[in-house]
Amino acid sequence: MPPGRPKPLIGEDLHVVHWFGAAPWGPALEPKYEHVRAARIPVPVGQPCYTCREPIEEGDDGEMVVALGGGMEAPTAQSMPQHRECSILRVVGHELGVCGCTGYEGLALREAGIEAARRLELHRVGQWPPR
Ligand SMILES: [Zn+2]
Ligand SMILES: [Zn+2]
Repeated sequence: MPPGRPKPLIGEDLHVVHWFGAAPWGPALEPKYEHVRAARIPVPVGQPCYTCREPIEEGDDGEMVVALGGGMEAPTAQSMPQHRECSILRVVGHELGVCGCTGYEGLALREAGIEAARRLELHRVGQWPPR
């Protein structure tokens, strides 16, 4: 196998991430990471979030994700928006102590996502976990 980065398996006109918001909110969305092929889209106002089901509002940050359904007999794939905070919740919610097995099942998903994003920011500046 020749050295170097593997060729992407996607076409030139396809993107890996469709994101929305005022500015890139994650490192992978920065234009300098060309291999990620991120594209900014208009805020999908009124569409339900994939995770918390609350409607996306003007001013929200987020990304489009693929929702699979239909089972093996008739599989379907649908593009749905997801709040930035809800993406954080899904990826590192457990590590940040914001999930069912760490006692946060009482929080609505939207609130849990906002709490996860808050703790991730504290972690970024070295203040999480609290001492
Ligand atoms: Zn959400
Ligand atoms: Zn957990």
